[in-house]
Amino acid sequence: MMIWLLRGCIVVKSIAEQASSEEVYKRLEKSLSPNWREYVVLVADKLDGEEHPFAVLVAIILSQNTSDKNSIKAYYRLRESIGVSPEAILEAPLEKLVEAIRPAGLPNQKARSLKEAARRIIEAGGEHILLEMPWKELRKFLLSIPGVGEKTADVFLSVKRRAPVFAVDTHAMRIAKRWGLVPPSAGYQEVSEALLRFFGPERSEEAHRLIIALGRRYCRARNPLCNECPLRDICPKIGVRETSQRRKVMQRPSSRD
Ligand code: SF4
Repeated sequence: MMIWLLRGCIVVKSIAEQASSEEVYKRLEKSLSPNWREYVVLVADKLDGEEHPFAVLVAIILSQNTSDKNSIKAYYRLRESIGVSPEAILEAPLEKLVEAIRPAGLPNQKARSLKEAARRIIEAGGEHILLEMPWKELRKFLLSIPGVGEKTADVFLSVKRRAPVFAVDTHAMRIAKRWGLVPPSAGYQEVSEALLRFFGPERSEEAHRLIIALGRRYCRARNPLCNECPLRDICPKIGVRETSQRRKVMQRPSSRD
């Protein structure tokens, strides 16, 4: 896989031309060491995933469009007041469910998604299907549930099934483009395939977590901390320099001021 991008007249190499995925992975692992308590999906998996694989899907739905901090709070409230099995969620009064998950935001929408997911999974035979259905078939099944999109399905498949998929959230989308693994216009599938190729299926789940940590700590959407980033000497920083340059020009006082 070789992507060369033109920045003005200069040819820019992707991160894959500058270092092996092994090297990138090691640097991220060494400098970021994510804590499972900071990720709602891992919290749900550690606490309940063995007895209730559905709990992991619940956690991913709660985490949509909000921070892990808020979704962890909602997950604990749900766990204590209702439970995280599909049966408990389906039987719970809607108002009680909405109230329990309120800290995660969009409580009405997410409560409807949780109930629909619980109903569909019970009708399909129970939550054990999440562990037993062939993963490609399961992906299609999950995507047919309202409120479950590609990222939600892929996070579940990656965490609970170790399936060869790479879940792409906003951090992964931004970072794959800054690394030059995909063109700036790439969509979900293209980014997912590029990251899976780069890191390999055996590391996709851990690499996904490391990329989130990188995006939170260094490779932020605005003002990325490239000078402190563990990848600063191998990352092509596609789009970053231009943005910084523009910012500097815009901030420079004009001669008429
Ligand atoms: S912070 Fe800068 S150097 Fe680090 S990955 Fe992002 S763009 Fe690359």
